[in-house]
Amino acid sequence: MSTELLVEPEIEQRIKTLAAESGDGKETGGILLGHGPSNDGLIRVTNAGDAGPNAKRRRNFFLRDLQHAKQLAVAAWEDSRAIWVGEWHTHLSGDPRPSSSDLATYARLLLAADLDFESFVSIIATPDPEHEWGQPQLTPWLLSVAEIAGRTENAAALEKGRTP
Ligand SMILES: [Zn+2]
Repeated sequence: MSTELLVEPEIEQRIKTLAAESGDGKETGGILLGHGPSNDGLIRVTNAGDAGPNAKRRRNFFLRDLQHAKQLAVAAWEDSRAIWVGEWHTHLSGDPRPSSSDLATYARLLLAADLDFESFVSIIATPDPEHEWGQPQLTPWLLSVAEIAGRTENAAALEKGRTP
């Protein structure tokens, strides 16, 4: 069964607004919260977090503020039983594909037994060719371990990650 992704329009707008922070020349991002996969394979993204005060933002790098992300996840769970489904971040280069280090990060999360991810949602925000961060473009990705292994040259190294 294939998994499908639905991002609520107001969440898309929120991510675009938050992504505009990259107008300062540094990546930004945050966690994605939502529901699923449901029995018919749908993941719904219903909330997007901001970077948080202690996020590490560089030109080619973003590391979320873990404490901030945890607080958002707890609040979303209490509010609507929404769970952590993925993350969004910006690419200043304009390349909307997850980088090899992005894929390695996602593979680690997917393989972490205690997190229980079947699929990981990644939304990459890139500057519009004309309007730059005034109108960021969003590219959603739905990644599984098999997907990532197919995208990664070093698939064997990922398989090793399964062994505790
Ligand atoms: Zn990236």
